[in-house]
This record gives sequence, C-alpha cells and structure tokens, in this order.
Amino acid sequence: MTDTACDLSGIAEANLDHAQSPSGVLGRIWLWTLRLAGQIRRQVLSRFRPRYVARMRRLRRGTCRNCGSCCNLTFRCPFLTAESRCIIYDHRTLTCRDFPIDTKDLELTRVPCGHYFDAEPREPDRANSPD
Ligand code: SF4
Repeated sequence: MTDTACDLSGIAEANLDHAQSPSGVLGRIWLWTLRLAGQIRRQVLSRFRPRYVARMRRLRRGTCRNCGSCCNLTFRCPFLTAESRCIIYDHRTLTCRDFPIDTKDLELTRVPCGHYFDAEPREPDRANSPD
C-alpha cells in the first residue's frame, strides 16, 4: 500500500497536524535516518526499559488503524501483505505490539497513527523509578 492510498479515517485527533513530507533527497535521507534511529531506540527501550514501555502502554489511547505505517518505516516488513495486513499478527514481536511506545514514535510514521497519549513522563529514567 502506498502512503497516499492509505485510508486516513480513524486518525487520533491529537495527530491530525502530523505531516511527513520531506522535500528533496536529503530530506528523505534524514527522515529515513530518524526512522532507523527510532527502530533502534524502540529495541533498546523494550530490552532495557520495560517498566517505561509498560507505563507508556497504559497511557496509550486510540486504536490501531491498520495503516501499516509502523511496519514500513525503513524497510517494508516481509510479513506485511499488499493490503497492509500482518500475516503473523497474533505472534508479532513485542516491539511491534508496543508501537508507538511514546510520542517520539508518532512523529516517525508516514501517515498519522491512530494512537495518541494522554500524558507522558518526561524521561524514561524517571518513568523507571519506583512509584
Ligand atoms: S500502530 Fe499506528 S502506525 Fe502502526 S498500523 Fe496501527 S495506526 Fe498505523
């Protein structure tokens, strides 16, 4: 599915001003680099900051629009069908289940995500401290 062909219904109101339209080759390279860094960041958070990820999961609102944007940030996931359906959905990885971990992830999708956050701890370190 191409970005422009994606159904835009179900976008969280908080994400309506989302815009990912880099201009020029350098802009696209920069955004791709940011998306790659975001993927690495999610892996690190899932592995080393599980309490932060769990807390953010509780703050996450909205619903998945099945747009497939998070499955296609840098390279297209091989488990994604042409209709943007995940063929291993019930067995997908933790980082897939946890997308978006926080608002930083929301800035990286090609089209606005259906999720949003009511509130967010300022830093993962604080979020990992005992309540
Ligand atoms: S989590 Fe968000 S970006 Fe990923 S498929 Fe669902 S709506 Fe799209």
